[in-house]
Amino acid sequence: MVVIGAGPGGLASAMLLAAKGAKVTVVERLPQVGGRTGRWRQDGFTFDIGPTFFLYPRVLEDIFRECGRDLWTELRFERIDPMYRVLFENAGHLDARSDAQSMAAEIARLSPEDAAHLPRYLADNRKKLASFRPVLESPFNALTDYLKGDVLKSLFMLRPQLSLDRDLRKYFRDRRVRQAFSFQAKYLGMSPFNCPSLFTILAFLEHEFGIWHPIGGHAVVMDKMAEIARDMGVEIRLQEPAVRILFEGRRAVGVETTKGRYPADALVINADFGHAMGALIPNHLRRRWTDRNIAAKKYSCSTFMMYLGIDGLYEDVPHHSIMLAEDLEANIRDIQDGRVLPKAPSIYLQNAGVTDPSLAPRGMSTLYVLVPVAHVTGAIDWPRVVPQFREQVIDRLELMGVKHLRERIRFEKILTPQGWRNDLAIYKGATFNLSHTLGQMLYFRPHNRFEDLDRIYLVGGGTHPGSGLPVIFESARISTRLLAADLALEAPSSLAAATVMPPMELELEKV
Ligand SMILES: Cc1cc2nc3c(=O)[nH]c(=O)nc-3n(C[C@H](O)[C@H](O)[C@H](O)COP(=O)(O)OP(=O)(O)OC[C@H]3O[C@@H](n4cnc5c(N)ncnc54)[C@H](O)[C@@H]3O)c2cc1C
Repeated sequence: MVVIGAGPGGLASAMLLAAKGAKVTVVERLPQVGGRTGRWRQDGFTFDIGPTFFLYPRVLEDIFRECGRDLWTELRFERIDPMYRVLFENAGHLDARSDAQSMAAEIARLSPEDAAHLPRYLADNRKKLASFRPVLESPFNALTDYLKGDVLKSLFMLRPQLSLDRDLRKYFRDRRVRQAFSFQAKYLGMSPFNCPSLFTILAFLEHEFGIWHPIGGHAVVMDKMAEIARDMGVEIRLQEPAVRILFEGRRAVGVETTKGRYPADALVINADFGHAMGALIPNHLRRRWTDRNIAAKKYSCSTFMMYLGIDGLYEDVPHHSIMLAEDLEANIRDIQDGRVLPKAPSIYLQNAGVTDPSLAPRGMSTLYVLVPVAHVTGAIDWPRVVPQFREQVIDRLELMGVKHLRERIRFEKILTPQGWRNDLAIYKGATFNLSHTLGQMLYFRPHNRFEDLDRIYLVGGGTHPGSGLPVIFESARISTRLLAADLALEAPSSLAAATVMPPMELELEKV
């Protein structure tokens, strides 16, 4: 078996396939594992490249258990509480709390009548998640999959006609409270004003299961996954990009990389979907996902990133904070139009040093700044606009409590949508993959068992269920299950025993 790409989806697949007894080789174009969940490390500073919120650990916990390991003893996580601060430009702030009572008190500071509706919001979303879980955990290979009992029931709860913001109006009248429960659409690179109402479960997942920080950063989780995979016999070949997939007729039979050829019974593609199709499979072999069809799809936003190593620590700035632009709808319109830079952008800031001093030299700390912007459309000349946009972002960081930043910067790295596209091999630099509109979800997303060709399976944010670590890990479970069934793989007896052991891990629901 060959896995193309050692991102979270590829590593999880390698672990699961090895647990099923397969001989696995992973080829990765970069010199490190993790993909968008990798790290930048320089001058003693360590930055997460992408993910900073570790959510819903349950899926990865299951994957570790399938490999006979325990997530909570292999890695150290810190639960972040308050989870994050949401700053409403010129309109106060809210500190999101893990326990419902403290959260209700926070909401009451902004809107007493809304606080009373928090229990109903939580109860409804608990039901919504329970009903949608089987859908997230199953493949969507055929349109008839929509007719399964679980799916029909949850589609009814999905309220396809409603946006996330509209759905939240049932509970919260105050715009700011709704924003605190809907900005999470950014995890999908979408707007709360047109993101499907299903995604109220994103904020719910945080409130129900917490937000976690892996000590050392998210890349440490990726390193551990690679280590476990290697322990199970997986070969991970870094700095060895796949250059083409080898076919016999319509059946994939191997991969050619810059260093050699690897025959394979089946392939798992973890590389970004849009990029991988164009780079690895000739257009004429693809039926549904031709270059033209891929180009015509809707894509998520991108992000303008600043990774800053600074002198000292901003002790009063929380681990996670989000400043939402005063005119949020205009901000989002600018991002979706893709013609101009957002004038007064929303900003997400991670000040990980308040939790994790291991990320910077003594007396210093790191700031990770994420500004949602349009994916590459050709309209914005990034090399030209970076200097001025950087100044604008630093000015706005003052509003988030980051004072006198310019004089404290000791290291700086900037990544633009073009950087995501060129350096990280992401189609259009759309950091969160194909948009999660209803027309691009479930059956309408590229299938886990790739529908265009034989013996190819997809994992990662570009396939079902979608972008975000928990669902990416889920995609690895779905795709490797399909692959194992198709190839009649069986777990070696030692691991089969490990998977039926009673779970020893923390019961997350009870934390
Ligand atoms: C800025 C940002 C913030 C995010 N924040 C969060 C968050 O807080 N929480 C969360 O849950 N999710 C978050 N995400 C979303 C998502 O979890 C990550 O992007 C995740 O890393 C995507 O995983 P993946 O498996 O789809 O692929 P990737 O991480 O993109 O990995 C794909 C791998 O394939 C490799 N590859 C590409 N082409 C080839 C080739 N030809 N040959 C060999 N290898 C190849 C790449 O180098 C890469 O290593 C964030 C994403 C971004 C970009």
